[in-house]
Amino acid sequence: MRDATDDKGTVAEPIWSLVKAMATLTGQRDMMSGIRSMGEDVIYMEFALQEAKDALIDDNLFPAGAVVSLNGQIIGRGRKTCAVHPGHAEILAMKQAFEGRSYTHADGIVLYSTIEPCVMCFGTILYSPIQRVVYAMEDPWAGVAHLPKSMFPIGNHENFPIVTGGALREDALRLVKEYAQRSGKAFWQNQDNPLVKLVMRDARDGN
Ligand SMILES: [Zn+2]
Repeated sequence: MRDATDDKGTVAEPIWSLVKAMATLTGQRDMMSGIRSMGEDVIYMEFALQEAKDALIDDNLFPAGAVVSLNGQIIGRGRKTCAVHPGHAEILAMKQAFEGRSYTHADGIVLYSTIEPCVMCFGTILYSPIQRVVYAMEDPWAGVAHLPKSMFPIGNHENFPIVTGGALREDALRLVKEYAQRSGKAFWQNQDNPLVKLVMRDARDGN
């Protein structure tokens, strides 16, 4: 696993500085909060998508990637792997981000995932200091992050994260479609599976 402070991890803040400078130059200071959330989400999701691409291209695995951000830095990254269990991208990104460190929900930590977190990953998020979760494509087969807070135990309500879906959704869908089309697994032949329906519908539409 790569170090969180490698060259890719330190690039995010300079990009954000550029976005801020551009907004200031064009006199759009009032729009900064909107630009910040939208701009940051896209920037960090690009890093998560790169992890997903690495899983697909390097290891021929389902393209799922995740990064964890704090104060303009990427402090954890992960991608789908079969080398360890559980090898979900979000779990590995959180492990790298939080191992040996102590954070609180006030720190503003955000997790970006290319696909909606499953019950295992979202459950782990609920017991982490993550304040926001941003995912690219929905997962109608196993995703739970879209569910309202009221569906989770009351003990998890106090620090329930803010969840946003749809950031760079088409890019994530395109990667999964590529994987599904090359995969020989029976899973992707099951037209009753809502994830297969979603991916193949987009394949038919040529999106
Ligand atoms: Zn998961």
